[in-house]
Amino acid sequence: MKKILLLALTLVVVATAWLGYKLHSRPSLDRYASLTFAPASEGGAGDLRVSFLGVSTLLLRDATTAVLIDGFFSRPGIVATAVAKLGPDAPRIRAALAKAGIERLDAVVTVHSHYDHAMDTPAVAALTGAVVVGSPSTANIARGQGLAEDRLRVVTATQSMQFGDLRVTLIPSHHFPHGQAMGEITAPLVPPVGALDYLEGGSFSVLVERGTKAVLVQGSAGFVEGALAGRHADVVYLGVGLLGSKDEAYRDAYWRETVTAVGARRVVPVHWDDFTRSLDEPLVALPYLFDDLDASMDFVLARAAREGVDIRWPVLWQNSDPFDGL
Ligand SMILES: [Zn+2]
Repeated sequence: MKKILLLALTLVVVATAWLGYKLHSRPSLDRYASLTFAPASEGGAGDLRVSFLGVSTLLLRDATTAVLIDGFFSRPGIVATAVAKLGPDAPRIRAALAKAGIERLDAVVTVHSHYDHAMDTPAVAALTGAVVVGSPSTANIARGQGLAEDRLRVVTATQSMQFGDLRVTLIPSHHFPHGQAMGEITAPLVPPVGALDYLEGGSFSVLVERGTKAVLVQGSAGFVEGALAGRHADVVYLGVGLLGSKDEAYRDAYWRETVTAVGARRVVPVHWDDFTRSLDEPLVALPYLFDDLDASMDFVLARAAREGVDIRWPVLWQNSDPFDGL
């Protein structure tokens, strides 16, 4: 009996140590420091500027128009995410908008309805005057937070809309196939609710065109074969989360159906930071318990080198010219 107890105790200690290690150890970002964008000037009237704000939250703006992808700033901690109910954190949202220099937005475009993309979208829209653009599930997140119906642009198939000189096209895509929190949000979702109540609700690739230049945002590492055929983008903001966990055939297909499909000459990896940490702290990669950024980037860097595609590492808060040097 004593031996069994001792064995059980040893197992608990080993499992706890393993979990602790996996939770606290993560890839270093030093490897990517040499790939960062040079800071950009404010830009002339015709210039597009992009700021990376964590996960796949991206601010795209020219002199007169500003569009935000996702807009996730609350970033609740890991314990709260696992056991508590979640809702938008107004002070954190206000602080992030101020730090990013965002006063007015024309639109907040949500790539899918998981909490790390869509939970704050309605609050951001309410604070900035933006319309919310996204799936019927995203619309139900917005309704649950009291955003008026005339502020919603519900998208169910490929659709383009014009904001100033920015043409924004949502193209149905797929989420990375991890199978968690899939399905539709079919009624207004009133926070606080569990992280897994923010069901995916369908995913989009988002193409933002300005004149002859364009960027594509692929928020999650999934794809629909042929969906981007005939589209062009100079730069892809490519979701790389969990990509390293898939086999070579999947990664090949993902690259082909996104980067190759639009003929991009530059890739900017996104959705690699640990989004259970506040934006007041420097970004770090997700812990090994959840992802292995280096495994994803081994693939991305090798494929980019082979095909002559430039890789730039995004810097939090920094204003960048996505087309710099292309
Ligand atoms: Zn997701």
